[in-house]
Amino acid sequence: MLASLRQIVQEVNAAADLQSILEIIVARVKAAMETEVCSIYLRNPAGEYVLMCTDGLNQTSVGNVILSRHEGLVGLVVTREEPINLDEAESHPAYQYFPETGEEKFSSFLGAPIVHQRQVLGVLVVQQKVKRRFDESEEAFLVTMSAQLAGAIAHAEATGVLRTIGQRSEARFLGVPGSNGVGIGRCVVLSQPADLSSVPYQTCESIEAELEFFHASLAAVRDDVRGLGNELASRLNKEEQVLFDAYVGMLDDASLGKEVSERIRGGLSASYAWSEVILEHVKTFSSMSDPYLRERASDVRDLGSRVLAYLQQYTVDEIEYPEQTVLVGEDLTAAMLAEVPLERVVGIVSVKGSSNSHIAILARSLGIPTVMGAVDLPYTRLNGRDLIVDGYRGSVYSDPGAEVRAQYQNIVDEDKQLVASLESVKALPSETQDHHRVALWVNTGLMADAMLSLERGAEGVGLFRTEVPFMLRERFPSEEEQRVTYRGQLEAFAPHPVTMRTLDIGGDKALPYFPIEEDNPFLGWRGIRITLDHPEIFLGQVRAMLKASEGLDNLRIMLPMVSNISELEIAQMLIRRAYQELLEEGYKVQFPPVGVMIEVPAAVYQAREFAARVDFLSVGSNDLTQYLLAVDRNNPRVADLYHSLHPAVLRALKKIAEDSHLEGIPVSICGELAGDPLASLLLVAMGYDVLSMSATNLLRVKSAIRSITLADAEKLLQEVMVMPDAESINHCLDLAFRQAGLTRLLGPEKAEA
Ligand code: PEP
Ligand code: MG
Repeated sequence: MLASLRQIVQEVNAAADLQSILEIIVARVKAAMETEVCSIYLRNPAGEYVLMCTDGLNQTSVGNVILSRHEGLVGLVVTREEPINLDEAESHPAYQYFPETGEEKFSSFLGAPIVHQRQVLGVLVVQQKVKRRFDESEEAFLVTMSAQLAGAIAHAEATGVLRTIGQRSEARFLGVPGSNGVGIGRCVVLSQPADLSSVPYQTCESIEAELEFFHASLAAVRDDVRGLGNELASRLNKEEQVLFDAYVGMLDDASLGKEVSERIRGGLSASYAWSEVILEHVKTFSSMSDPYLRERASDVRDLGSRVLAYLQQYTVDEIEYPEQTVLVGEDLTAAMLAEVPLERVVGIVSVKGSSNSHIAILARSLGIPTVMGAVDLPYTRLNGRDLIVDGYRGSVYSDPGAEVRAQYQNIVDEDKQLVASLESVKALPSETQDHHRVALWVNTGLMADAMLSLERGAEGVGLFRTEVPFMLRERFPSEEEQRVTYRGQLEAFAPHPVTMRTLDIGGDKALPYFPIEEDNPFLGWRGIRITLDHPEIFLGQVRAMLKASEGLDNLRIMLPMVSNISELEIAQMLIRRAYQELLEEGYKVQFPPVGVMIEVPAAVYQAREFAARVDFLSVGSNDLTQYLLAVDRNNPRVADLYHSLHPAVLRALKKIAEDSHLEGIPVSICGELAGDPLASLLLVAMGYDVLSMSATNLLRVKSAIRSITLADAEKLLQEVMVMPDAESINHCLDLAFRQAGLTRLLGPEKAEA
């Protein structure tokens, strides 16, 4: 059965649309299980379950059998969220008979829920005439089948929305919140060059010109491949030579070229038509059972990318960014953001990633509403369409109607009012009502967010992510290039302190010119581990920082991802060496305070030992949460398990604050938690000296801190520290905010849709 299971899943993944997926499932499952009926019921927008496809029941009943979640055996599968296996369905009290199906002939019934992201999307049913209970292995097969297919069905349903309900009707897609706020604008899809699966849907203006251009590109790549084949001729064996000839053949006008030309004649752009055809062939090859043929999928993809690169090279129209741009992409990166006129960007949507991905963190520091992990968004078809990005709830609307648009415009207006009303606290000190001072600093990475921070009255930088300027280049920046960048930051904030973190790459922060391939990147070569293995990079960076601080003396250096005392000691030795060198070279620099980030559980337990050796500690709560809870900060599938207010995280945070104070050094926190007005009260009560956050949150947090006394915050902390889970803690904080009349700081009530 395993073979047929794999085969069905492959066929389904290769299918073009929802209808074909359903037809494949019912036919293949029926055959594999040797039953007489296989049917699929799917949930409609009203929450009812509709018979969508069947092999065995009367076809006229498709679309006409509709059950609520409390009706029939299908409803029972839905409410129980588990398989129901009956030898005599008709005698079960929940049985409901639909004459149009002709199902009275079938006695035995096995139904399995199709569950995606904890939601029952539908029910997969097999039926048989003979009265018999399906055996354990059959039940397990159906359950495995529906678990494997749930994702494909959900994706096909979501992407199908745009096609089946017409070109311009409102559709809503779900993701996770990335950066608060609402953005209303026009979509611009950003894609990686030569990436077949992210080519935006586009039509062509002149069919004749497009065809001519396409044939010329094809001929050029054909020549390239032939040339390559000739060059390698002496080194290729016969089989490989045949393969080369086959490639040239595929690029023939009569082969792939013909299919693409037909689509161009239908009005599509050459790039889109080409990528569509190639992806279809890749799918077909991938689903073949012969391993040799399956392998050929990657050849077809490779060839496809080559031609696509050609097509894109000659069609690089300048991207036009409308006044209100919503950027959409499969996997947006900081480098991509750097090429965009940010003043026009009102929203960002990324298909991959979650709220703790670095692109989301950057978006927050720039105050751009963002949705992450919108995995079902048919983004390649959205170019030029109107979009609403709801960064509060994590949803995206395409072609919104007047009602939804008005609703969201209200939120935009309310947001503006809130920002205006917070202006009044800008010049006021950040202290509780009983005058306990807490420094509010900012996290920066770009010059744009540094400017925003200054406007918001930041008193220092708690985290300058130096990897951002590294990401924006095509090679490592030279020491002098780094010095100039760092000088810009240090000067902008002087005399306030600027905490520069040494290069923190690895994990989800890749440099395009320094790729790291690992099975487990978050447990691999990251942060300080890389820079200590490459002292030339570390020393160059520290030298650039020190030189940049000459005459300003507001630099602090911070080390990321430290998990061993020896790492700290080696880093300190290298910093001292760089400092000595510069003194010898005649620079008048001061030795800066050096601190470590507490980001991994090991460092929590050794916080005291670290504190005894440095000038400050700073908690990276984003990574600390990820590592304490074993929840990948980028994975939308587990995003709802990522709780920075989990009791385990709170206990770690409290211990770190206590340990640093026992050693008499200040402690700060620079993860996203610091910018959460609710959490900020707890952090103040724990004794954090500095909260460092995205500039957009600064005034909200200040406002929250100014509205309570330290004693009240401490009482609140005591209350939540004994709670069993993040939900209760969140609830308790929400309540406290409500009672203090502070809910407006959390943003406008999330719009109901
Ligand atoms: C953190 O992990 O909390 C942190 C501030 O660092 P980054 O988000 O850049 O990994
Ligand atoms: Mg980190």
